[in-house]
Amino acid sequence: MGKIVCNKCGKKYSLNESLWRCECESYLDIEFKAKFFRNELKKRKPAMWRYREAIPVDSDKNIVSFDEGYTPLIKQDMNGKRVLLKLEQLFTTGSFKDRGASVLISKAKEAGIKSVVEDSSGNAGCAVAAYCVKAGINCDIYVPENTSPGKLRQIRAYGANLLEVKGSREDTAKAAQNAAENTFYASHVWNPFFLQGTKTFSYEIWEQLSFSAPDTVITPVGHGSMLIGAFIGFKDLMNAGLIKKLPKFIGVQAEKCAPLYHMYKENNDRIPEIKPEKTIAEGIRISRPVRANQILDIIKETGGRMITVSEEEIKKALLQINKSGLFIEPTSAAGIAGFQKYKPVKKEIIVIPLTGHGLKTAKA
Ligand SMILES: *Cc1c(COP(=O)(O)O)cnc(C)c1O
Ligand SMILES: [Zn+2]
Repeated sequence: MGKIVCNKCGKKYSLNESLWRCECESYLDIEFKAKFFRNELKKRKPAMWRYREAIPVDSDKNIVSFDEGYTPLIKQDMNGKRVLLKLEQLFTTGSFKDRGASVLISKAKEAGIKSVVEDSSGNAGCAVAAYCVKAGINCDIYVPENTSPGKLRQIRAYGANLLEVKGSREDTAKAAQNAAENTFYASHVWNPFFLQGTKTFSYEIWEQLSFSAPDTVITPVGHGSMLIGAFIGFKDLMNAGLIKKLPKFIGVQAEKCAPLYHMYKENNDRIPEIKPEKTIAEGIRISRPVRANQILDIIKETGGRMITVSEEEIKKALLQINKSGLFIEPTSAAGIAGFQKYKPVKKEIIVIPLTGHGLKTAKA
């Protein structure tokens, strides 16, 4: 059995405690020995729960799932460079956040939780709302004002209570945390079980690449639930002796809001005080990423880097990818724009997730 472990003071808790942060107020991680039964996989459904023994939920009867995952990994040539795109926009709610929500809400169900709160700039709210309906759990979703109307309609459509908060994304998080005093905080940022879902992204890539790891993963980063999850996934595979090296992680941020890029550039472990400006990459407009140090450690450990992209570069990448028949949201295009600025060494195998569907932000 595994443990919940504080990233800062090292305090350990049982996996069955419903905590979203440590007594010392730091964020938590999960120590859990993921097991893989490679020869069984072919017999299982093409869905993320095919890696059942790698996911820390005790009983099958608590699994909350739409048979999501096992998204296609397709080859694409862009400006003479080859890349593999993982079609994460194809989830039930239209973004990769379903991976995290499926595991987190399964765990909440296992703990007998009857209501949860979550805050989100949109997609995580959509995912948590949908999985809560499926689980029969009430949910309140806090969103910042100016969230895309499509995402707000989607959250309401699932029957969740939607609370719009004036001020910054951080004000929204505070409002949800105050509410979480008396209920369960189903946070995609704080709750470490969310990352135990997003990690399945890497297991699938491993299987799709005939049981090997790519050289590089390039992803947009806000709070890092995609990047950290993907890292944990490959780390699990490495610990199980199934891959020999970790891919290099490249994080992409919008110039208009790039705290992680500045920390990387200035080799600083303090989050800078920045005023986030408006960007079309609304899903990564995060000025104070909770897990900033964890993200930068991953970048360093894997020999990767942070890249920033301008609004122009994001727009150009968005138009280009849409014209290839893939309709994605502007936030996802930031990853593609980062790839355009990245100079691969010859024959490098690069994977980029298309993190969210374009239908959500069709007006933008
Ligand atoms: C949430 C999200 C991201 C960024 O994920 P983080 O976990 O905040 O790093 C990127 N793209 C889309 C579409 C998202 O919904
Ligand atoms: Zn602690």
